[in-house]
Amino acid sequence: MLNPSVRVANGLLLFGQQLEEWTVGRDRLFAAVGVPYTSFRSSASELGARAAKPGARFFDTAKRGRIRFGPGAGLALAVQVGTDDLLTALIDANGTVHHARFEESVPNQYDMEPSVLLKRIRRAAESLVSEALFDDDLLAEGSLPLLGVVVVVDKPLDTDAKPAGPAWGHPSWRSGKSLRQRLAQSFGLPVDRCYAIRSAQASALGVAWRHTRSSEYLDQRNVDVAMVLNLSSSTSAATVIVDPSTSPLSGERVTGFLSAQLIVGQHHQAGEIGHIGVDRSVLAELNKRRPADLPTLRPYRCSCTDQSDPTPPHLEAFVSTGAVTTRLGVSPSSTELARLVRRPREPQTARALSDLGALLGATLVGPLVMVDPGSITLTGPLATAEVSGALSGMVARAGLPGGEPDVRIVEDPFIALQGAGLAMLRERVFRRLDAILDGPRLESFERVRGLGMSVIRPELDTWRVTHPAPV
Ligand SMILES: [Zn+2]
Repeated sequence: MLNPSVRVANGLLLFGQQLEEWTVGRDRLFAAVGVPYTSFRSSASELGARAAKPGARFFDTAKRGRIRFGPGAGLALAVQVGTDDLLTALIDANGTVHHARFEESVPNQYDMEPSVLLKRIRRAAESLVSEALFDDDLLAEGSLPLLGVVVVVDKPLDTDAKPAGPAWGHPSWRSGKSLRQRLAQSFGLPVDRCYAIRSAQASALGVAWRHTRSSEYLDQRNVDVAMVLNLSSSTSAATVIVDPSTSPLSGERVTGFLSAQLIVGQHHQAGEIGHIGVDRSVLAELNKRRPADLPTLRPYRCSCTDQSDPTPPHLEAFVSTGAVTTRLGVSPSSTELARLVRRPREPQTARALSDLGALLGATLVGPLVMVDPGSITLTGPLATAEVSGALSGMVARAGLPGGEPDVRIVEDPFIALQGAGLAMLRERVFRRLDAILDGPRLESFERVRGLGMSVIRPELDTWRVTHPAPV
């Protein structure tokens, strides 16, 4: 029989979204996990199960009739580095994104000397922390319980999280150090507190999280296969496999998010769809049928190739923010793109976007037959109705043996940050609930305190791992 706190925490992972939306009440959660509220209260009083005794704030029951994870269950600091933009946010164990910020954009960040970009990441992290330190909702015992730092990148990483290929503009990135090592050095933190993840994979985990918290998920009986496309300055994809919730011997159900599996590939390059050659006949057809005032589709750049070399006719050379802005005659910056895709859109822009969708759809037929996903989710600045419409049309035309996947759009610019933060929470907290919460109350209290770094000042040199990490 699992400890009541562990059972409630597992229940929160499954029903948390419905509790947040008040479609499921606290009583139903306790009934579902088979724990009387009173025994949960006595087992987890120091962990925040009593409003009058907030303690380590692993649980937050301060609001009447409400229960959720408190900041003491850990906060992940996530930083996303695009070609020119930098986003930061804190993600808690409910998957809530706090203090999301856009830093001032700087063109071609990956062409910078690594130390310059790392310093920019550090500064952004410090500004985020200085803001969050004023937020009582995020403090446990007066400090921010930060689990660590995760950086979301737009460029390929190899199996050891080392930057891979010419996409990393500055050659020093490829000196052999992993991105995790570089972060650890720059932040002065142990390497196991520093994470790096590709944006498409982070978004796929965000999609898996949202799926496993939906009410439909509780009815899922078979494996769910989701493909996620990240359409930004580069074009990449990720596939995530989510099992139905399982019932361990004790009888309660455990979320499939804990075991959700990203297909990363033997060389960690699965999903690099940007480097598939485009179908020339589709390209010729799109160019032939284009309106007179729209320039032809021409290869712009592909991140697999040095800029001094000729651009290969890869998908990414046509499907990227740079390709579409250049085709429409504006500069390839995220501000210009945001202006172009703002609604209502010019017919030219709409047509250029639908061309991207058609090229994507035609190129994806092979991968789709191989993977047979139930859904394709588009994320990133080019995730628009025109792209999804043309993509669906192309896929329908191909007639896939398994039928057409559902094509969806996630417009939330913070989905990758959310998924990245949850990847860290999953590894450091969710998968170790037994080890953290089981056993005598005071021991679990100490283990919860050991999860985060207890940050009390924004300056990085004061971030310390103060308690031993739980086993
Ligand atoms: Zn390429």
